[in-house]
Amino acid sequence: MGIERSLILLKPDCMERGHAGNVIARFEQAGFTLRATKMLQLTDALLAEHYAHLTSKPFYPEIVAFMKSRPVIALVLEGENAIARIRDLLGPTDSKKAAKGTLRGDFGQESMRNVCHASDSVENAAAEVKRFFPATEVF
Ligand code: ADP
Repeated sequence: MGIERSLILLKPDCMERGHAGNVIARFEQAGFTLRATKMLQLTDALLAEHYAHLTSKPFYPEIVAFMKSRPVIALVLEGENAIARIRDLLGPTDSKKAAKGTLRGDFGQESMRNVCHASDSVENAAAEVKRFFPATEVF
């Protein structure tokens, strides 16, 4: 535990449906601090690294097409026990199983269109932050 950082992606469904402001407000209201932010278009190469654990899944090509369908917003959030607390704020991968009051429960649609990515461990967060932001862009 202690102060942790998490890499967040506001996915294309979040951007298309106009939830970016609400989602960032929820993070701020929960006490997390923004350390980095930018809008970017994801590429095949970046997604192959980011979703390396999913490349053998039958739905991987669909995820790539979805994640490239419009620009996303990447954030680095910092706070006490951030990894677990942000995953709790998000709810489970399948938005239909997510409780109301969670980001996926309130703004998500299903397993793929589920609003946000958030790092799932301190180790992965460190790699993901480096993948999306040079050190000069993290404040
Ligand atoms: P999470 O994002 O909750 O950590 P995973 O790392 O398992 O979940 O999956 C990464 C992303 O791949 C999910 O957020 C979702 O967009 C997509 N995904 C995962 N499982 C499925 C599935 N069964 N069908 C479609 N898309 C999926």
